[in-house]
Amino acid sequence: MSKTITVIPGDGIGPEVTDATLTVLGAAGADLEYDMRLGGVSALEQVGNPLPDETLDSIRANRIVLKGPLTTPSGTGFRSINVAIRKEFDLYANVRPVRTIVPGGRYEGIDLVLIRENTEGLYVGVEHYIGMEGDPRAAAESVMIITRFGAERISRYAFDYAQKHGRKKVTLAHKANILKYTQGLFLEVAHEVAMRYPAIVWEDRIIDATAMQLVLDPYRFDVLVMENMFGDILSDLMAGLVGGLGFAPAGNIGDEGAMFEAVHGSAPDIAGQGIANPTSLLLSACMLLDHVDQSGTADRIRAAVNRVVQSGEVRTVDMGGGATTREYTDALLRALA
Ligand code: NAD
Repeated sequence: MSKTITVIPGDGIGPEVTDATLTVLGAAGADLEYDMRLGGVSALEQVGNPLPDETLDSIRANRIVLKGPLTTPSGTGFRSINVAIRKEFDLYANVRPVRTIVPGGRYEGIDLVLIRENTEGLYVGVEHYIGMEGDPRAAAESVMIITRFGAERISRYAFDYAQKHGRKKVTLAHKANILKYTQGLFLEVAHEVAMRYPAIVWEDRIIDATAMQLVLDPYRFDVLVMENMFGDILSDLMAGLVGGLGFAPAGNIGDEGAMFEAVHGSAPDIAGQGIANPTSLLLSACMLLDHVDQSGTADRIRAAVNRVVQSGEVRTVDMGGGATTREYTDALLRALA
């Protein structure tokens, strides 16, 4: 029986890359039905709410979401809808695989997975001003929250993931040397979990040194696990190892549901021009297909992406080519045929 999923095309380039992704899914024979819903600035403009109840109800019913990027105003305005959905449905594990597809880049043969804790850390959004506006002594304060429960389940997820996917090593990136309580707790708990997986090599590294080592020698890593904000930052760095944000998929996984999205944002600088690279969302859709036991279809799409990108004949602007989203999508359809 075909699986119904909630689809939120989102803002900026979101509708363009979502359209391309659904076209390829259809051609590949994905057994999915789509419940199209609003979210983000486009929802605010159309129905006065960036996260309408109808969208939340749809996610509650379907439990699987494919989401385009959503614009979040910086500094002021509504809080991130991405973060709100992750919190509402307790999608605690953000899984971000990065794999070299484009040949001839700075690095060849990259194959890493970053697992980011998605519900805690500084992104809980507990922040406030201290003192009156305009007071020279005024300050702003954000609270980092790490719970034993949260650190334990994300560490377990990382080791289970490594075990299931035949990965050899898990690295915890942390800052326990400075943030002794919050990061210290994460390190302590991850170490306890690691002891239960003797077949998997385990190491912990300071986050800043990890960032440098990822640039100098990414091959020393395999699966990386870390708290929310560190994971947000390092996953963009890791996307850079494989040719940029256009190739970085993500899955937000919880016990009751899952949401798949591109790592990149709504790219307002190129929105509406028909030149966005849809690969990131398409590869996220492949993770979704894996999640709903349609890995055969996912593998065929991934093979088509590899063929098109590696042949170099049709490349979008971010890949150094001149193809439009439509031309690139057509090439994928030919590769699938
Ligand atoms: P961005 O990822 O949107 O863009 C960064 C750069 O990468 C831009 O030059 C853009 O043109 C390019 N780029 C991104 N995706 C591309 C694609 N598929 N094809 C070709 N080029 C691509 O980051 P930003 O500009 O910092 O953020 C824009 C908005 O997106 C902000 O409102 C931010 O909050 C939001 N955002 C949303 C998500 C999400 O929905 N998960 C993630 C990150 C940022």
